Amino acid sequence: MSIYKAPRGTHDIFGKLALGLEKLDLISRQVFRKHNFKEVRTPIFEDVSLFTRSIGEATDIVEKEMYVFEDRKGRKLALRPEGTASLVRAYIEHRFDMTEPIGKFFYSGEMFRYERPQAGRYRQFLQMGAEYLANPSPNADVEIILVAKEILSTLNIKDITIHLNSLGCPKCRAEFRQKLVDYFASISDLCEDCKRRLEKNPLRLLDCKIDSNKFQNVPTMQECLCDDCNNHFQQVQALLKRVDCDYIVDHKLVRGLDYYTRTVFEVRSSSVGSQDALCAGGRYDNLVKELGGQQIPSVGFALGCERVLMACEQNGFFDSLQTDDVVFIALADEELFVDAFTFANDLILNNNDIRKDICLSENIIIEGPFLNKSLKSQFKLADKIGAKKTIIFGKNEFDKGKIIVKDMVTQEQKEVKLPDYCFNRQICNTDSNEVFKNVKK
Ligand code: ATP
Ligand code: MG
Repeated sequence: MSIYKAPRGTHDIFGKLALGLEKLDLISRQVFRKHNFKEVRTPIFEDVSLFTRSIGEATDIVEKEMYVFEDRKGRKLALRPEGTASLVRAYIEHRFDMTEPIGKFFYSGEMFRYERPQAGRYRQFLQMGAEYLANPSPNADVEIILVAKEILSTLNIKDITIHLNSLGCPKCRAEFRQKLVDYFASISDLCEDCKRRLEKNPLRLLDCKIDSNKFQNVPTMQECLCDDCNNHFQQVQALLKRVDCDYIVDHKLVRGLDYYTRTVFEVRSSSVGSQDALCAGGRYDNLVKELGGQQIPSVGFALGCERVLMACEQNGFFDSLQTDDVVFIALADEELFVDAFTFANDLILNNNDIRKDICLSENIIIEGPFLNKSLKSQFKLADKIGAKKTIIFGKNEFDKGKIIVKDMVTQEQKEVKLPDYCFNRQICNTDSNEVFKNVKK
């Protein structure tokens, strides 16, 4: 048993999950690119105040989930719990408002939250997200929703529902807040979390996992939206309908971060159990100013990579992650090691002449040769790693300028002529062969 384990709430990524993440990364980058979003990579830690100020003091993330530490000079830092605050910080710091005529950006990377670990909920997890800055119009909200949806549908995730709501602007939200406080005052048995939040953040009561079912006829934000916010919300919906993007208006959707204004949305999947939110986002019209920039209305989303891959488990996505064919280089005579090694290197460097000569497809993985292994154990190894072909270097054939190509599926073997230059190199360059011969003695 190993002495060390990955810290609680973290997990090692390998095998199929690693391949799945690579594919997800590829697909999402293609979608981002098509929509003209440009990548920004920000540090994994930032000033803790960047997050407290943007996400909000009374949110779960700031109250209890952040990994906060001091560095050796006493700077208060936090591992990033989400990506938007960092991206907005970078936007202001580098004056992207002056250099980027269109404020479309994307990011991907690890986020950290001290949460109770469970399926689909980790302390270190991967998110990718897109932010559309400096566009106040409803089409920006819709493009953000469509980008998220496009990534999920390219992955063939079918059972998704887009939940949509509007949280209005600070002006109309104040009225909603008051209505909620009055409403909740009439409910006697609120859970401890809700009692605590009632003062600071009454909206959060709406998505309380314990209490939310008790709330009948609860006031909705829609009743309180001012004309401008209501128009915006209607326009977002009209555009979504126009492009056949299904959604449901969900009055209880409030989101856990304070910076949202107007549109908020969540994409949920019915195939991933209780942690069903694959992706979430919304508009944040005042955040850039709040963090020291201009008044720059913006909208974005973040997608939880692990959860998205959980939703892919049943749809054949992982079966389709076939890797390229493996070609195994085997040695029947060890004295040909250097020639076999050089040949493997030629194949890896994609020397197409050789590939054509031995009928290998364009994308292949090369493995071998190995020293100090019998031919039998080399074949066993080739089988274990699922090699489709084995190329055997044997003295008799090599002296005639040939190698053997064995098809591991049909077991058929045939002799193939080596390209002349492979053979000539062997004759002209005997030093390396000698070194290996000496070592063996
Ligand atoms: P949840 O309601 O699941 O806690 P959230 O509102 O905290 O989500 P966001 O901050 O909006 O989530 O993050 C966007 C997405 O990131 C979520 O929809 C989810 O897929 C993923 N996510 C959030 N927290 C975690 C976590 N601890 N582990 C894995 N994925 C997560
Ligand atoms: Mg959360």
